[in-house]
Amino acid sequence: MTATVPPSTKATEKTDTRRRKVAIIGSGPAGLTAAIYAARANLEPIVFAGNTPLGQLMITSDVENYPGFPQGIQGPELMQLFREQAERFGTTMVESDVTRVDFAQRPFRMWVGEEEYAADAVIVATGASALWLGLPSEEEFRGRGVSACATCDGFFFRDREIAVVGGGDTALEEALFLTKFASKVTMLVRRDQFRGSKIMQDRAFAHPKIEVRWNTEVTEVRGEMTVTELALRDTQTGAESTLPAQGLFVAIGYRPNTELFRGQLDLDPRGYCRTASEGETATAIEGVFVAGDVHDHKYRQAVTAAGEGCKAAIDVERWLESVGEIEAATATNW
Ligand SMILES: Cc1cc2nc3c(=O)[nH]c(=O)nc-3n(C[C@H](O)[C@H](O)[C@H](O)COP(=O)(O)OP(=O)(O)OC[C@H]3O[C@@H](n4cnc5c(N)ncnc54)[C@H](O)[C@@H]3O)c2cc1C
Repeated sequence: MTATVPPSTKATEKTDTRRRKVAIIGSGPAGLTAAIYAARANLEPIVFAGNTPLGQLMITSDVENYPGFPQGIQGPELMQLFREQAERFGTTMVESDVTRVDFAQRPFRMWVGEEEYAADAVIVATGASALWLGLPSEEEFRGRGVSACATCDGFFFRDREIAVVGGGDTALEEALFLTKFASKVTMLVRRDQFRGSKIMQDRAFAHPKIEVRWNTEVTEVRGEMTVTELALRDTQTGAESTLPAQGLFVAIGYRPNTELFRGQLDLDPRGYCRTASEGETATAIEGVFVAGDVHDHKYRQAVTAAGEGCKAAIDVERWLESVGEIEAATATNW
């Protein structure tokens, strides 16, 4: 990529929301942490919040693994604190989805419908979305027994009987992880075989707590306050049955929110954004950085997303300095 510096942007004003040094696309833990750091470096970032403002933690209840909250905290409350902290230092929030981007030249351009925005550097933090079965009862019990994150919620299912839906590596990993807590884990697989790797399959087959039901799909999640039972259907015969379960983990995959960047950023076969090199936030396009679940398919945690948001903002400031868009940071006190 060319290192040519575009026309100066020194005219950026606090009031000019359309033209900023830094634009952050996404308002989850990654985007808002990037905003806190960029705002404290006087970069006056603009954050596009998207159609899930404040990100995935808005759809969960207890978060017990975010450091600093020994008693745990509700997901929406935690994210509201992120937002307040970002706004306190001068972040501008735009409560919309970015609908189009042009990263071909600097300043980079972004559109919300017909409204055009420009920025010298962009942090892409659009996250990922867990795939769900699409049952109304699944949605009703989300956070009350239905989850898409074993690392996050497994702890709440100590000595319970739970089911995991899915036949790929994610499902196998989640099921094996959940055996640390659950008394029994039933894997519900739509087909008559797993898609996951042989080694993971062998581990699951060998585990005394794991039982596999082939050709099985969930048709309804049942319960009162929390889940007590699943209604199942045999995908071959249509026969219906029930399974007592206090939890249902849906592990049918994640979809990174990267459709917007197709043809602009380097995406891997699953659609995750690639960085220029391992462990970095810079992409192959100089001035465009990524943070959080939009490229991290391994850890997928709020704290790792926030950590990457911090890294991306520091990388942006250093990059802006290196291309002469801001003066060398003698004063930034991270
Ligand atoms: C049910 C559930 C429970 C979880 N519990 C925990 C937990 O207990 N602890 C933990 O550490 N992690 C937990 N996680 C994982 C955690 O939520 C994610 O790892 C984290 O939110 C990722 O942060 P992120 O900022 O990368 O992306 P996200 O939180 O996914 O945020 C992405 C943001 O991008 C925005 N966006 C998307 N497209 C656009 C667009 N075109 N224009 C503008 N904005 C856009 C969205 O609106 C959203 O604000 C849980 C996840 C789920 C689904």
